[in-house]
Amino acid sequence: LEWCVSVPKVELHAHLNGSVRNSTLFELARVLGDKGVIVFSDVENVIMKDDRTLHEVFKLFDLIHILTTDHSTVTRITKEVIEDFAAENVVYLELRTTPKRNDSIGMSKRSYMDAVMEGLRAVSSVDVDYSPAGLKTNTFNGSTRKKMYVRFLLSIDRRESTEAAMETVKLALEMRDLGVVGIDLSGNPIVGNWYSYFPYLFMCFEGYNSIIILNFLGIRHRSTFLPALKFAKEKGLYITLHCGEVPNQEEIKAMIDFFPHRIGHACCFDEENWRKLKSAKIPVEICLTSNIRTETISSIDIHHFVDLYKAKHPLVLCTDDSGVFSTSLSREYNLASSSFGLGKTEMFQLAEIAINFIFADDGVKADLRATFKEAVKKLN
Ligand code: 5GP
Repeated sequence: LEWCVSVPKVELHAHLNGSVRNSTLFELARVLGDKGVIVFSDVENVIMKDDRTLHEVFKLFDLIHILTTDHSTVTRITKEVIEDFAAENVVYLELRTTPKRNDSIGMSKRSYMDAVMEGLRAVSSVDVDYSPAGLKTNTFNGSTRKKMYVRFLLSIDRRESTEAAMETVKLALEMRDLGVVGIDLSGNPIVGNWYSYFPYLFMCFEGYNSIIILNFLGIRHRSTFLPALKFAKEKGLYITLHCGEVPNQEEIKAMIDFFPHRIGHACCFDEENWRKLKSAKIPVEICLTSNIRTETISSIDIHHFVDLYKAKHPLVLCTDDSGVFSTSLSREYNLASSSFGLGKTEMFQLAEIAINFIFADDGVKADLRATFKEAVKKLN
């Protein structure tokens, strides 16, 4: 593990609220418990639980959001999460988060993101470059401290309306100069629709069954987030989609046809979609521990990492939710190495090749390649 920590790494799939330290969550829960807003022991039990189905994970996120969604806490967790990744020797981080609106505390999506930016500027353990133009840093030039690039992806939660999704895309465009480079589609995969539909039929069925039945009948839903994703792509934002966390083959096919710049997970593909993904060469963000913990993949030995790796398909190891799944990027590298028999040379190459898939310009890529070149000298 020590070696995996010392290798410079690129993290491309990390959700802010999934990466919060457990100690911070407990502290926040205690405060809200003392105020009588929540029952601390209930929260403690939920947070401490190790294995959760994907469905349970989304319930946990609702709880985490109760604890974290106010401006000062958002600032705090952003600072902590970035510093935790820096301590792991992450040299380039794309952090994603869902901008949240909460009228009762005067929070708009913009003010949520301003709180995130404040957290970034408060990072003190490393120098952070967060502007695509390389102009905005929290120190950098001439500094001898460790440096790290941070970029943001704004997540659209599949529960959101088309209008709310569009608001997120507009916000991303507004915040381009502040390091926002793209859009992520995430949230419960059985909620929200890629396509158009007949409403009365959709009302008859619930959840995933409705998708199967309506697909079987050839009936389509109303698309919720697609207009926003199309708009984002037209405007030149990078797009990454959570894809194939459930076996909805029609949606998976449509997502590949949309040609996102990357996808996350890619767990439940049928053979045809698997072939399609490989020929489209869309880079895949692989989250091993997350897939195992949520039982999306039944065992690490049959994880699709192996197939993609052997096929030299573009892929990158990521944490997903380092807090929720009690992992770190070094642990993910260690797990891949021990599970799939990869040596140090292969692991280093895997870390370095991730530079090709980042949502940043050639200057940043060149700088990162130089960092890896330096590191290889030290590690040998
Ligand atoms: P946030 O966007 O609030 O900073 O991070 C937590 C959110 O990220 C969750 O509410 C959920 O929408 C999304 N998320 C985190 N992990 C996963 C995952 O494994 N799958 C999907 N589909 N969404 C996730």
